[in-house]
Amino acid sequence: MSIDAAGLTISAVRRGLQEKRFSACELAKEALRFAERENPKTNAYLHFCPERALEAARRVDEALARGEHPGPLGGVPVAVKDVIVARGVRNTCGSRLLANYIPPYDATAVIRLEQAGGVILGKTNCDEFAMGSSTENSAFGPVRNPAALDRVPGGSSGGSAAVVAQGTAVVSLGSDTGGSIRQPAAFCGVVGVTPTYGRVSRYGLVAFASSLDHIGPFARNVSDAAGLLKVIAGRDEMDSTSAFAPVPDYHAAMSGEVRGLKIGLPKEYYAGLASETGDQIMKAVEVLNRLGCQVVDISLPHTEYAISAYYIICTAEASSNLARYDGVRYTIRSSCSETLTDMYRSTRGEGFGAECKRRIMLGTYVLSHGYYDAYYLKAQKVRSLITRDFQQAFQQVDAIVTPVSPFPAFKLGEKLSDPLEMYLSDIYTITGDLAGIPCMSLPCGTTANGLPIGMQILTKHFDEAGMFRLAHAYEQAAG
Ligand code: GLN
Repeated sequence: MSIDAAGLTISAVRRGLQEKRFSACELAKEALRFAERENPKTNAYLHFCPERALEAARRVDEALARGEHPGPLGGVPVAVKDVIVARGVRNTCGSRLLANYIPPYDATAVIRLEQAGGVILGKTNCDEFAMGSSTENSAFGPVRNPAALDRVPGGSSGGSAAVVAQGTAVVSLGSDTGGSIRQPAAFCGVVGVTPTYGRVSRYGLVAFASSLDHIGPFARNVSDAAGLLKVIAGRDEMDSTSAFAPVPDYHAAMSGEVRGLKIGLPKEYYAGLASETGDQIMKAVEVLNRLGCQVVDISLPHTEYAISAYYIICTAEASSNLARYDGVRYTIRSSCSETLTDMYRSTRGEGFGAECKRRIMLGTYVLSHGYYDAYYLKAQKVRSLITRDFQQAFQQVDAIVTPVSPFPAFKLGEKLSDPLEMYLSDIYTITGDLAGIPCMSLPCGTTANGLPIGMQILTKHFDEAGMFRLAHAYEQAAG
């Protein structure tokens, strides 16, 4: 038996199991061996959970032996970002503070993944508490982009994007608060989906900015991303913000007609693009045009305020969410303190990296008495305007197409010394999170030196089906 673990898709795993070319246990062992061998090149996995993986694979093999369906993800090797907890598996959030934290429960997405037959190989590296755009803010070293090892994979879910690009997982889960799924997907040349806010339960996702946090899939094609989202989506009693909206059969929807769909190109997103990025996006738009879509220019007038509003709202929420890491619960505890207050201070001082500290300070400031109205409240009003921009646009068009990032993957270290410059790389992804609408990144070519470029598709609330249909049609047409 030889298994090419690097090239698999969900349907290839299903066929392999059906034709008995390998068992789920054989596949899990081979996938783990391959991932452990390849991982030093990218540092994309932080840790593996072989016992849990083999246990899940054994259940799949037993179901198959009984003649039962092994589930939509039966035997599929999956990786999970290290901010989504799995019982008994170390969960660091890329932070020194949580270096030894072993969660006592499973995230809902993890439970659903395994109930569907998925085999979790391990947890992936990320920016500390998902704050960053390059995965260089991890306490456990940066991730390297499999497409160019001297470049960043994007962030914060850089590890989850990299494992799928590298072939060390078939699909993976990441989290997105301001672009952390779509931007790394674009940088690594894979598909990344941020579903509607509330589509996927956040239970067991370590909170960064609760009103913006989403869990979503990475995959090597649209069909796999849709299949994984279908498994993890849907109402969950454990998260009161998870939506009751029924989850459609995305695969059925995907094959529908795109002729006649109206696609909006917001003019605010097409200024200031690196030329190669702009060229590839326009080529992709031509493909949609040839498929019979009608392309129209639109405007999302409040786009220019998105970054400012986002970095006020997300830091405010983060300062509150991160207050729990105090050296009493969860975390490591500083040994050099005499009083309780000292202990809080030195634990947080030693444990958090620079970006987390910057955001906690900024967030505390914008929420403080006397500044709340001027900053936080104002940012929330801007958020409503941005949401309204999209609602008005979707009265005219079925989908919006934009670049994901103004530039392709940058060099490791290139933007580290300038946080503002780093924040600007989220300019096209943040608006989707602020509005809570579904959005995704889809590979659409490369630069001359082979760096992947991503196209973003956005649709209205809960219309993931429409988004997948357009993405699938493009993927088929573009080859
Ligand atoms: N890069 C953005 C930030 O630093 C988005 C992060 C995210 O989506 N988790 O906040």
